[in-house]
Amino acid sequence: MFDTIIIGKGPAGLSAGIYTSMANLNTLIIGKDSEIEKTTDIKNYFGFSNSINGKNLKKTGTKKAFSVCFQIINYIVIKIENVDNVFEITTTNHGIFQSKTILLATGNSRNKVQIENIDKFEGRGVSYCTTCDGFFFRNKKVGVIGNTNYTINEADELLNYTQNIHILTNGKPLETTLRADTNVNTRKIGSIEGEQRLEYIVYDNGEKERFDGLFIAINYPTTTDFIKKLGIETKNNLIKINEEYMTNIKGMFAAGDLVNEFKQISTAVASGAIAGKNIIKYCKRN
Ligand SMILES: Cc1cc2nc3c(=O)[nH]c(=O)nc-3n(C[C@H](O)[C@H](O)[C@H](O)COP(=O)(O)OP(=O)(O)OC[C@H]3O[C@@H](n4cnc5c(N)ncnc54)[C@H](O)[C@@H]3O)c2cc1C
Repeated sequence: MFDTIIIGKGPAGLSAGIYTSMANLNTLIIGKDSEIEKTTDIKNYFGFSNSINGKNLKKTGTKKAFSVCFQIINYIVIKIENVDNVFEITTTNHGIFQSKTILLATGNSRNKVQIENIDKFEGRGVSYCTTCDGFFFRNKKVGVIGNTNYTINEADELLNYTQNIHILTNGKPLETTLRADTNVNTRKIGSIEGEQRLEYIVYDNGEKERFDGLFIAINYPTTTDFIKKLGIETKNNLIKINEEYMTNIKGMFAAGDLVNEFKQISTAVASGAIAGKNIIKYCKRN
């Protein structure tokens, strides 16, 4: 069991990991690419006289974190559960890790799917959260859009409510290591239609198929998905934290773009450091 698992390998997550590891907490950092890797020309970060490339900054930041924390892995987290005050984190390679605390440092991203009218039917047949909304589709016909392990995981969760589930890869090949126990449909979707609620999927060739619900589970879960599934409180599109950087869930902390109104590398690094320090205090207390 880890003392803390940090989800996110951006400036916030790595910064927190440096503090928790240097305080001898058994720390695991899980994540993939960060926003700073998209940045080619950073001119406003302390300590550099010339502008810096985001990829290079990430590389040196990761090197520093590796010098004190040996457990940094390139996985995607597809599920977080809280079982009797122990966090269980499922990753894409199907490994499950347990920890006493979690730091969410997953940045500000949200999965968007390019299908006409998706936004229009959000909350009216289109959902981003199986845990929150699966219940409303008991014994109904639902589609799960996506082609990854995350998609399969979400479809499996919906089996609690209905057997009539269709994985819709939207023209992409299924890229999973998990077995799909439901129908897989690889046709490209053009739009969705309905009067008050979603009623039809319209394929690229204009053919329509009736559906009661559509769940979006493309790529991997983002901050927004974790918020919905775990019931994390938010305010003005930011995760709500107390003065110790803890969310409304005991033992779950948050840092970086997902708590900062001013979204910068410097503020992400700072909030990661503060969250790290508070995780150390929390682990000593509990
Ligand atoms: C184009 C662009 C230019 C920018 N320019 C500047 C600039 O010049 N100066 C500046 O200060 N800031 C700049 N920023 C903002 C800055 O990049 C962010 O504020 C900063 O990266 C936020 O850090 P973070 O650690 O909170 O999140 P991120 O850097 O977004 O890191 C999030 C981490 O979470 C991981 N993650 C997400 N979901 C999962 C999951 N399910 N499982 C596992 N891991 C997951 C990601 O892989 C990543 O490692 C720019 C941003 C962009 C997009």
